[in-house]
Amino acid sequence: MQKISFNRRSFLGASLMALAGTHDLRGSEPASAGFRTRGVVLVPEDLTLVDWPERASRAGLTTIGLHHPTSPKALLAWLKSSPGVSFLQSCRRLGIQVEYELHAMRDLLPRNLFERNPNFFRQDAKGNRNPDSNLCVHSSGALDLIAENAVTFASILTPDTSRYFYWGDDGLPWCECSQCKELTPSDQALVVENRILQGLRTIDTQATLAHLAYTNTLAPPKLVKPAKGIFLEYAPIHRRYDLPYKEQLDPAQPDGLHLLDANLKVFPSETAQVLEYWLDVSMFSKWMRPAVQLPWRRDVLESDLSTYASRGIRHITSFAVYVDDAYKRLHGEPEFIHEYGKTLKSFTTNRRTTRTGQLPPRISRPF
Ligand SMILES: [Zn+2]
Repeated sequence: MQKISFNRRSFLGASLMALAGTHDLRGSEPASAGFRTRGVVLVPEDLTLVDWPERASRAGLTTIGLHHPTSPKALLAWLKSSPGVSFLQSCRRLGIQVEYELHAMRDLLPRNLFERNPNFFRQDAKGNRNPDSNLCVHSSGALDLIAENAVTFASILTPDTSRYFYWGDDGLPWCECSQCKELTPSDQALVVENRILQGLRTIDTQATLAHLAYTNTLAPPKLVKPAKGIFLEYAPIHRRYDLPYKEQLDPAQPDGLHLLDANLKVFPSETAQVLEYWLDVSMFSKWMRPAVQLPWRRDVLESDLSTYASRGIRHITSFAVYVDDAYKRLHGEPEFIHEYGKTLKSFTTNRRTTRTGQLPPRISRPF
């Protein structure tokens, strides 16, 4: 069976491997009544703003997630470049945890296997096997290969937190074969995630893995149960950002708050992570440059933090894509990085409210 193959040492170079091997910050986060993860998620191009790690550190952020929309291999290629090595060195020096949040299925199940193994791949609405996205989750061969390749990537793209993120293809369809069609996209994603986690535990006994709730997987799974160590990552990309999320309860509202509550009936809240878009200039720019100025709403952030904290959520991050050197030249200093981090850090989460409670946690304003 074809698995991905590359030599670890030659791929990244000895210096990066030395870094990765000692770059373990697990447990360095002090006990706190606030959010345990205070993060941003960036793509390599955002690191043209070369002092992102320093800005994150000054803002009190704990974590930078590196993202790629299609390919862990492409992220690896960047990490072995000079900017990639410098980025990891800066994060290590500053105590910023690094994670890797990846739409990964195309690399975990290479599309060139389709000709010899069509049953690895999804059946589309027309009844044809199709390598266009994801996989058939009733193919044990596909699941085994995906898990094996995830382990290979994890041995190089090793997060400082033992939290791994191998997502399905970005918003793309899942399998409609006679066996899979009984499963929702969320169920199918969870089948893969449970299998990947089983593999990851062979190299990292502390490994946990995200179940990405996003677009066609935003609704919770119905039939498949998460293995211990699967945590919810909730990314409501279609919600509104000009209104607090607590006001988006109408079931007709795209990506409304009721979907988070439904997920929290399946996944534990204490490990759940929100992946938000408050700082995502790329989304507000409709993923087209030139970047627009971020419509920064600290009041919405503060309200949303109360909403999430009241549900027991302790891990908060936001995409901040397009917050790069070009953004700074166009719109000036991205001061919102500091406001975002300080708002998260000063937020006290130990005054839990009820789901319908009117008592938001107190927020001090140190700026
Ligand atoms: Zn199938």
